[in-house]
Amino acid sequence: MTTTTNQQGRPDQRTRADGSQPLVRAVNVTKSFHGNEVLKGIDLTVHRGEVVVLLGPSGSGKTTFLRCINQLETIDGGRIWVDGDLMGYREDEKGHLHHLTDKQVSAQRRDIGMVFQRFNLFPHKTALENVMEAPMQVKGVSKAKARARGLELLERVGLADKPKAYPGALSGGQQQRVAIARALAMDPKLMLFDEPTSALDPELVGEVLRVMRDLAEAGMTMIVVTHEMGFAREVADHVVFMDAGVVCEEGTARDVISNPQQERTRSFLRRMR
Ligand code: ADP
Repeated sequence: MTTTTNQQGRPDQRTRADGSQPLVRAVNVTKSFHGNEVLKGIDLTVHRGEVVVLLGPSGSGKTTFLRCINQLETIDGGRIWVDGDLMGYREDEKGHLHHLTDKQVSAQRRDIGMVFQRFNLFPHKTALENVMEAPMQVKGVSKAKARARGLELLERVGLADKPKAYPGALSGGQQQRVAIARALAMDPKLMLFDEPTSALDPELVGEVLRVMRDLAEAGMTMIVVTHEMGFAREVADHVVFMDAGVVCEEGTARDVISNPQQERTRSFLRRMR
């Protein structure tokens, strides 16, 4: 692997030998809430088809960082590119940044699927209607097409028999799988998962992780915030350990989880056991 410098001259250890552009590149991202700096200069590179797992103690800034990637939060400093697009801004010839319009931001966000800890399904819509909604409303897909694709996606997440079920009649694991199908319905190039199994009863965690693993095997690029170490070990191509708003340590799962170099990583992993 060669070392090059990224857009702001910082060293980047994760450039691919074939020179291909990463799908996600974050450089020196900062974010504060009311003077409290939550992200203190985060760099992240995610290649196409990679699964990156973000680990770290509660409050370290993982959720905020995910929300910055898909612009549920605006960043204070640094830059984030997804598929070569500078998120949220246009850069002029002099290097000055200009906010994109809401419409332009929405267009960027359309290509990024997000799955939350709480499933946020529409309670008054069936599983299938939940999956059909965004393609019809946002992309103007016909009802027939949205329906056919919705059924296909429900089958993919193991819910072929539940198109007519309302969220209230589904288990947490089933609701989360509907939420994954709903995100996939927009054909995202990137999927963000924010602790997707942490609100679930333990016996329902496996079925959601299984769907995520299938997605990874099918080549989806994913950034996953999770405390599921087994998933991180088996599925992650790259593991990033965050603490107090900085990336403390990163590498393969074997590097970070099995052979951590930093005391902060070790102490976190001890607490996870
Ligand atoms: P993690 O996902 O690692 O648990 P978060 O990104 O959720 O961490 O939170 C990092 C810090 O930012 C926490 O101290 C949290 O209280 C704070 N924070 C997150 N969102 C907001 C917000 N909207 N307003 C104020 N503080 C926030």
